[in-house]
Amino acid sequence: AVRVRFAPSPTGMMHLGGLRTALFNYLFAKSNNGSFLLRIEDTDLTRKVPGAVEKLEDILDWAGLTPDESPNKGGQYGPYIQSERLSLYHDNVNTLLESGHCYRCFCTEKRLSLMKKDAIARQENRKYDNRCRNMTEQEMEEKIAQKVPYVIRFKYEPMREPWTDLVYGLMVENVDSEESYREGDFVVIKSDGYPTYHFANVVDDHHMRISHVLRGAEWSISTPKHLQMYKAFGWEPPLYAHLPLILNQDGTKLSKRQGDIHVEHFKDQGLEPDALLNYLTTVNKGFKGPTDGKTLKELVAMFSLELVNRHSSRLQPEKLPPLNRLHLQRQFSGQQRQNIVDRTRDIIESYFKHRLTDKHILTDHYLESIINWAIAHRISRLEELTESMIEFIWVRPSKDKILTLAKKDTSCEKVINGVKSCLDAVETFTDEAIKNVLKNFCKSQNLKTVHLMKILRSALSESEEGPHVSEMMEILGRQETNKRLDMALE
Ligand code: GLU
Repeated sequence: AVRVRFAPSPTGMMHLGGLRTALFNYLFAKSNNGSFLLRIEDTDLTRKVPGAVEKLEDILDWAGLTPDESPNKGGQYGPYIQSERLSLYHDNVNTLLESGHCYRCFCTEKRLSLMKKDAIARQENRKYDNRCRNMTEQEMEEKIAQKVPYVIRFKYEPMREPWTDLVYGLMVENVDSEESYREGDFVVIKSDGYPTYHFANVVDDHHMRISHVLRGAEWSISTPKHLQMYKAFGWEPPLYAHLPLILNQDGTKLSKRQGDIHVEHFKDQGLEPDALLNYLTTVNKGFKGPTDGKTLKELVAMFSLELVNRHSSRLQPEKLPPLNRLHLQRQFSGQQRQNIVDRTRDIIESYFKHRLTDKHILTDHYLESIINWAIAHRISRLEELTESMIEFIWVRPSKDKILTLAKKDTSCEKVINGVKSCLDAVETFTDEAIKNVLKNFCKSQNLKTVHLMKILRSALSESEEGPHVSEMMEILGRQETNKRLDMALE
């Protein structure tokens, strides 16, 4: 059975690279009838951020990538938080101590840092000299009795045989330059009793029955270490598929420098989760056919790990708004219509609050016609419906304003009544048709267009700026336009 995991460290917010890894794991699991797990790798106490685990699960839920097993949901192979699995790591490290694959190292911080400094000065590899490998049994017993703090190291022998990465193909460890070999024997249990990333990762992948490891290419360098540990345990390793890096538009590593890359940021902006996932499918391929506008469910059917390529690719932020609009249109014309209407009502109510002169303006019917117009022509996010240029949609002009207008211009009433009956004759209430009618009205009444527009605009909107009056009328629709003209007459 296919079992994959997303294994973030809870160091704060998730960024787009993390979401991509989660997405591809999810797609791979679901397209193979497999399970998608969330495991929290919190063995670095110094980097732990309170509340981060809950936030991670929330954001995965928001994106629709809900795990089958996780800290929240539980599961057969839990706990799913590494700091709650310490006894498992200790049991497993004992196995490797007994078989001679691991040893205790009592070297002090001071010795290690001197060794490092020395190596840098001589421009040599910063390699731990593996001194404690050769400690006698007796020496060791003495140190333990004296309670000298120690770490446990793994006897690292460079990988001689190549291995296959499902994305990168045949891999070999470059023993002369690989960072992993240069370090010397690496630590598996730290002096605080916590495991290192490498050790906990291997032990958990094994015990959680992980079949495939899909993770960012930056972890590729750890694979030989992991494989050597599997070998020492005598365990079958999972298959590895490293996912190429996602880059900023200018080719640099993904970072906050080019706009916010945190998933929370996009969520707060009111982006559709499917649009954000779609945005990530534009990198590194992996799909049979174009993905624009596809839902997560459809992506599952289109995904194939074999199609993921090894080119790192750049995010193109300008793709996001049109994708979001596409998803809004799809939802609005499908089963999510009411949901979009309700969300819009919430957005408008909480943004304008008491400025909404009449709450009753937010009927389903009115909202639907506004959304219909807006997602075809104007907005790519629902939040953009609050922009000041189109505020007139939601805010009816106040009585005061209309009274001032009437006082200044006594012909007002006559003009508005005239326009009303002209509009009644308009068959389709479109910008074009309305424009014509108003033009003819001016001619027949010997009115200046500017003058008429000023009166009408005051009746329709609080603001002196905005789209053309005829366009405003089209946007508001016949009913709301009439309502406002009537209110101006009251
Ligand atoms: N804890 C690692 C991370 O933060 C997981 C790497 C892996 O998937 O092995 O991304």
